[in-house]
Amino acid sequence: MAEAQEMPLFKLLAQQPAPQPVSPLPAAPPVEDVVPLHQRVPRPKAKDLPESTLNAGYTFERFIPGNVNQMVYAAARAVAENPAASYNPFFIYGGVGLGKTHLVQAIAHACTARGLRTVYVPAEAFTNDLVESIRSKTTAMFRERYRNVDVLLIDDIQFLKDKESTQEEFFHTFNVLHQFNKQIVIASDEHPSKLTHLEARLRSRFEGGLVMDVQLPELETRIAILQVWAQEAGIRLELSVAEYIAGRVQKHMREMEGVFKKMVIQAKTSRSILTVQQAADEIDGFHRPRYTLTLQQVIDVTARHHGITADDLTGPSRTSSINQARQIAMFLCRELTNTSLPQIGAAFGGRKHSTVLHACQKATQDIACDPLMAAVVIDIRSKLLSK
Ligand code: ADP
Ligand code: MG
Repeated sequence: MAEAQEMPLFKLLAQQPAPQPVSPLPAAPPVEDVVPLHQRVPRPKAKDLPESTLNAGYTFERFIPGNVNQMVYAAARAVAENPAASYNPFFIYGGVGLGKTHLVQAIAHACTARGLRTVYVPAEAFTNDLVESIRSKTTAMFRERYRNVDVLLIDDIQFLKDKESTQEEFFHTFNVLHQFNKQIVIASDEHPSKLTHLEARLRSRFEGGLVMDVQLPELETRIAILQVWAQEAGIRLELSVAEYIAGRVQKHMREMEGVFKKMVIQAKTSRSILTVQQAADEIDGFHRPRYTLTLQQVIDVTARHHGITADDLTGPSRTSSINQARQIAMFLCRELTNTSLPQIGAAFGGRKHSTVLHACQKATQDIACDPLMAAVVIDIRSKLLSK
């Protein structure tokens, strides 16, 4: 589906922390190999801070902890309210899609709002930033950037696996911040003790703080989360449908979010109340390894739905009903098959890839503003996904 249909709820907002007056740091910390760079290079301006993109929706208010995540949620709030007071570093770990990034960014939002100099950075971006600074011979500025903060939040630390120089750099950053009583928050896919590909000295630093895990919220909490999302998205979600979706989520919240987003598009385009059957179709589609359908299947099912033949659909006819059926078929080929625009064009009687692209864009537009067209597409799509 087209990105253009994403809900504002999930829109990413670039949020730069407001420039804060920075109090001068005390003299260089007595940590071996830590250079008191702040005495040598100019303080970074706000524009020099790394691209810190926080998701506007990842706030404490929007995190529903339920029973299983009550403790980690309470600890995160405590860290945000009183940085570096007791839980430092604060280390959150857990599987994919269980809310680590949400919680870490919630801390970042809260700290930023209180005027603290806050930097949230995925470990990958930290690495890229370091590499770039080495390339452009600005490592001094790099250090200054990350060491002159009140709160540093690093996401997906497991990414530092085998990146020795980055680990080394982070180790020193960590020491400087800790020394100056600045808060460090880390998210990882595993408990520090299991991060064996990270240097032992880093792991032991992590274990020296508060280490907590996130888990898949229990069924009732998942239902509550769905209801909140539905309310925010302005769609009606019957309890039975919410129960059904929440009941089928087995592993992580991202799956539930993916299914929910697709259902929002359906609800908005068809302007009807969602049914359990639609939820089932979406979830089956989500679980199905993507791209299992062939071009021919999409062409056949779309043609049959319109009461025409596959040859009509792929042939030269330009009558408006066949034209529209063709646009729908091309749109679905693009969404549901693992093929390129030229391959789709070839299957439709040797049409150019730009023609396919135009057809897909037109279909996307029509689905958004024509409920009848949306209903047709949803119908064909669910027939295809039940194959
Ligand atoms: P992770 O970083 O652990 O892979 P995310 O923080 O990206 O996971 O979470 C995946 C999605 O699930 C996000 O949209 C997040 O807002 C949502 N989510 C996860 N847990 C909760 C929760 N307890 N309450 C509300 N939303 C949640
Ligand atoms: Mg994450």
